[in-house]
Parts: sequence; C-alpha cells; structure tokens
Amino acid sequence: MSVTLRAHAKINLTLDVLARRPDGYHEVEMIMQSIELHDTLNFNIAQKDITLMVTGLPVPEGADNLVLKAAHLLREFSGTELGATISLNKKIPVAAGLAGGSTDAAATMLGLNQLWNLGLQRDDLMGLALQLGADVSFCLLGGTAIARGIGEVLSPLASAPRFGVVLVKPSFGISTKDVYQNLSLDNLGLRPNTSAMVRALGEGNLKQVAGELVNVLESVTIQIKPELNELKTKLKKAGCQGVLMSGSGPTIFGLTADMKSAVEVAKGLDLPDCQVLVTGMI
Ligand code: ATP
Repeated sequence: MSVTLRAHAKINLTLDVLARRPDGYHEVEMIMQSIELHDTLNFNIAQKDITLMVTGLPVPEGADNLVLKAAHLLREFSGTELGATISLNKKIPVAAGLAGGSTDAAATMLGLNQLWNLGLQRDDLMGLALQLGADVSFCLLGGTAIARGIGEVLSPLASAPRFGVVLVKPSFGISTKDVYQNLSLDNLGLRPNTSAMVRALGEGNLKQVAGELVNVLESVTIQIKPELNELKTKLKKAGCQGVLMSGSGPTIFGLTADMKSAVEVAKGLDLPDCQVLVTGMI
C-alpha cells in the first residue's frame, strides 16, 4: 500500500500580535491562506523502521526533520508497531515564512493515519499538531482561516478567491526568534483589521483585499533587512495590487487577479539574488 499527498505552503494575509504570554509564546490573530505551491510526500508501509529520503531543496534528513518528528509522535500516540518509508520532494523554500516544515508535518500525520489505517479523527491530530509547531494546526485544515491563540485556535472561512500570488524569497534567511525578540508590543504601528479583511475576501474584491494586507512583524524584519522594502516597491511597480511579507519573513508576496497575471508580473521582475515563484491562492 502506498499513499501520496501534497503539502501546501501558506501565506499570511494579516498578522497581528496581541500579547506576550508568560511562557514566551505570543498570542496572535492572523488570516492564513493556503497556496498552490506544495511539497509532495509519499508513504509506503515498512516492517518496523521509519525512514525518510529527501529530494529537491536541501533540508536535514535526520531526526530534526519535522516529517520524522510527526511520524514518531503519531506512532507513539497510536501504539502501532508498523514502520514507514517516506519520501519528501521539497519545493517550498525553507525558513521562508511559508510554513514549509509545518505543512510537511501535517501531511505526515494525515498520510500515516491512512497508511497505518489508524482511523484517527482530525481532532485527535489537532491535539498532536501543537506539539510539533504553532502552524501545524492550520496546515492540517488548509484553505482560508483565522488563527488565534498561538496559531492553534482556528475559525475556517469560506473559500477565498483564486488570486494569483508572486513569491519573492531573498537568498538570506531570517530567524523567527530574532523577529519576535525585536518586536515591541507598545509600538506595533499599523494593525490589521481582521473583520475588514474577512469582508473583502467574502466580496472577492482584490483592491479591498490588497488594502487590508497588514503584518505587524513586517516593520521589525525590515529594520533587520532594509532591502526588503526595495523588494516590496519592485513587486508593486511590476503590477502587483497588494504586497506583504509572509509570517516573520523574509518572503514577500504580491497579489494579482489570477495566475496568468502573476506570470506576467514575474516576467517583468529582475531580481537575480532572489527566488521568484508564481503560484495562486487555493
Ligand atoms: P513558519 O512559516 O511556520 O515559521 P518557515 O517557513 O519560516 O516556517 P520552515 O521552512 O518550516 O520555516 O523551516 C524552519 C526550520 O525547520 C529550518 O531550519 C529547517 O531546517 C527545519 N526543518 C525541519 N524539517 C523541515 C521540513 N520538512 N521542511 C522544511 N524545514 C524543515
């Protein structure tokens, strides 16, 4: 038996930070959106061991990989003694603010639940998700959703319009920890209006959606990497209606009416030091 699943990346259409918790985590409110860009995972039954092989972009293949962490967590929780041979074809840029590791972890739980015939419900998997990372819960659900708490309290929204997305990933990475450490809760600047974004998405109005794109982490990351501002300007000039940093960055995304116009925008970009990807909201 063999199971193959796509693990989709996400962007943040809004990201607000509400409070710092005593345990160091932050309470957030954000609108998360799945995009077409995905990794592909294949699961095959094995007698005992769980092994991982990675192709595509380089990520660690050892115990640190979130795929293996998710697989071992699920095996422990379910009590099964079965093993699995897992292959991961990595396409989502790594440490980019696109939840690449989290979506692989979510797909691993869904895939092994099927492969091992565990019959676990989504709620069981949701309970495990938080042990793997704050974005894993959303990745289990996918689509469009408001995420609160530290990202695990989800309110699904109606399907969003299939706007085109141009992703620009600079060659440098950014540490999420550094960004949060530099964030001053007394001085967040412009805050997102979550209900206005929900309305704009419901109306399918790209101009309104573009006007509501706000991420309070953006100015913090731009302070660390000022060149991100130039990337934003270039994306706007090339024809994106709205432009924002995803998560804690450094990926910048631009929205267009559809995938076809996203392809046109990408053609007009001259960014030799960046990875440019065309995708779409799903
Ligand atoms: P988020 O948007 O959830 O903050 P991210 O897109 O910024 O995530 P990831 O791509 O998930 O970041 O990578 C973060 C770290 O996780 C990297 O240092 C990477 O080595 C490690 N990692 C472990 N497993 C994976 C995986 N399957 N895919 C990508 N990164 C992984």
